Amino acid sequence: MRRIIFATGNIGKIREIREILKDLGVEVVTMKEAGIETEIVENGKTFMENALIKARTVCSDSGEPAMSDDSGLVVDAMDGEPGIYSARWMGEETSYHIKNGEILRRLRDVPESERGARFVCASALVFPDGTELTAEGVFEGRIGYEEKGENGFGYDPIFYVPEKGKYSAELSPEEKNEISHRGKALRTMKEKLTEYLGTVPDCGADRGNG
Ligand code: IMP
Repeated sequence: MRRIIFATGNIGKIREIREILKDLGVEVVTMKEAGIETEIVENGKTFMENALIKARTVCSDSGEPAMSDDSGLVVDAMDGEPGIYSARWMGEETSYHIKNGEILRRLRDVPESERGARFVCASALVFPDGTELTAEGVFEGRIGYEEKGENGFGYDPIFYVPEKGKYSAELSPEEKNEISHRGKALRTMKEKLTEYLGTVPDCGADRGNG
């Protein structure tokens, strides 16, 4: 069976990826399931550089196709912060209630027209033959004035989505997936992977579970 190792420990991400790729007949396994224990140093300067670093490292360590993504929130009025540091910003252990409160505080005097923000997701899939597929998705919105909604995670409660008239944390998972950075990046990746599998049937994804 074809399989891809996904370079994450995040079970939520794996679930999303499995759902999106399920009709391609590609099995998606975690690094743990594949027995890969590589320590990955995310020292890229962009989302895509970080996604490629993770996928390349796992592919070369395992000899199997490896996929990863890197995402975050870019706030215009904060010169693009927290950006690629979104998970680490103010400390990995700090609650998102506190992080979101700090962003609202920093933007308290910023007018609506300058509250633009976007979630960005870069996805990379690297094959042992050297092929690299990449896809990026952007989810445009602005920073609201309060925390709202119970769905989603991270910065969703302060991310207002004008086209829906709601905060991101007020969207259902399906609604969010249709317009989100990750949804867009993964659907583009799926198209590229479908095309690649069509041109190179024995692409090196045939290892593992026989
Ligand atoms: P990653 O696992 O390195 O991609 O970390 C991305 C970080 O960006 C997460 O920990 C969140 O802080 C933030 N982030 C990415 N996507 C979303 C989203 O859809 N909603 C809210 N926060 C997000």
